[in-house]
Amino acid sequence: MLNPSPAVAATYTAAATSRGVLPRAELPAVLRPGVRAGGRHRLAGEWTSPNDTVAVLRACRLCGGIRRAVMRLREVPGSLCLDCRTDRAGVPWDASYDRFRDSGG
Ligand SMILES: [Zn+2]
Repeated sequence: MLNPSPAVAATYTAAATSRGVLPRAELPAVLRPGVRAGGRHRLAGEWTSPNDTVAVLRACRLCGGIRRAVMRLREVPGSLCLDCRTDRAGVPWDASYDRFRDSGG
């Protein structure tokens, strides 16, 4: 899916202000761990669910940040860390790419 749904982008915005932890019920179904492969969003692997009630966004492996943006670029694997500006592969993206952020609106 190249253009994530507004609900997915909104979920990342919410996670940024809740230390990466959200009620599992607030996670769009396509992001929920355990959803069958065909219905999974490309970002579903960034979420874990330690129990039935919460979902946790995987922190940035470079800086530990949980403020992340959904990007509309196929070239960006996973989401983009807003603290160190790297994607999940560790590739940096400068602010000129912010126009490709999916703000959820
Ligand atoms: Zn980071």
